[in-house]
Amino acid sequence: MGLVRYSRWASRLKTLNSQTKPLLSFSSSSSFSSATTADNENPGRPGPPPIRVALTESFGRGVFATRKIETGELIHTAKPVLSHPSLSTIHKVCYCCLRKLKTTDSSQAQRVSFCSDECQRQAKGFHDMEMRADWSAYDDYCRSRGLKYPLLVKRLACMVMSRAAFANLLDILQPASLSPEMIVEMEEGFGLLRSAFENSNITGEQMSFLTKQWYIGVLARIRINAFRIELVGALYDDLLSSLAASIESEAAVGNAVYMLPSFYNHDCDPNAHIIWIENADARLKALRDVDEGEELRICYIDASMDHDARQSFLSHGFGFQCNCHRCLTGD
Ligand SMILES: [Zn+2]
Ligand SMILES: [Zn+2]
Repeated sequence: MGLVRYSRWASRLKTLNSQTKPLLSFSSSSSFSSATTADNENPGRPGPPPIRVALTESFGRGVFATRKIETGELIHTAKPVLSHPSLSTIHKVCYCCLRKLKTTDSSQAQRVSFCSDECQRQAKGFHDMEMRADWSAYDDYCRSRGLKYPLLVKRLACMVMSRAAFANLLDILQPASLSPEMIVEMEEGFGLLRSAFENSNITGEQMSFLTKQWYIGVLARIRINAFRIELVGALYDDLLSSLAASIESEAAVGNAVYMLPSFYNHDCDPNAHIIWIENADARLKALRDVDEGEELRICYIDASMDHDARQSFLSHGFGFQCNCHRCLTGD
């Protein structure tokens, strides 16, 4: 989710011009891709996504259109850098990409499954590492308190140990500010994670990154940057029905962290929208026509809530007071 919480405090951003220095530019990358002609949503416009991440005139980053973008257009896709199924769906979705499994084999109910050889191969490193430890105490800690984010930290730790990720993977993201109560709860989680690894045959050297500071720093970033993933299904791959479906869809299949989508700022009347069709690959779509240079924003919360509820959610969940046009007009 977005990072530039503080820009909400400033007056509405002026449209940035070409003098703004891009922080990231997009050519081709495995993590971000724009629509191709085969995609059918953006005919005749292959190439890098029509966006750039730039500093706003206040402090912080934002995502800006580099050309006119039409209503319904697929702006870009993004693969998660970190994802994990919900504990309630863990045996119903792919342990790697969160795609719903066609059949659930009850004899395998204690084990996780993958949707494809590709996902199994991709997950091999962290999954092998995870299988070496006993997670019952850690999972109980998450389940009894209704915590979902420590599962992402566990996966990241396993990815780092298997050299599938660097320990500083999420450092670029903004951390949440934490209350003393949150830190106490996180310290308990850290102790359980650390002892799960210590009780396995994993060496101290492999665990050297796994300090309390690392654990809390990762969790503080996940807390305001993770997206809750609700699959809308391929039937809904058009704008209006996907909006309806995302409101009606069943419980989240899991949570994931992305890089580029995390740079989008919040607006209670957003011009962009993020949807998931069949797995954790995110699709950013334009909700209305966007001009070149205009900032693209998504809504972090349920936009149908009233003004006071939105302010409360944003303040408690994300630590900022929203000054978007809709909030300023009291809607
Ligand atoms: Zn999969
Ligand atoms: Zn607002």
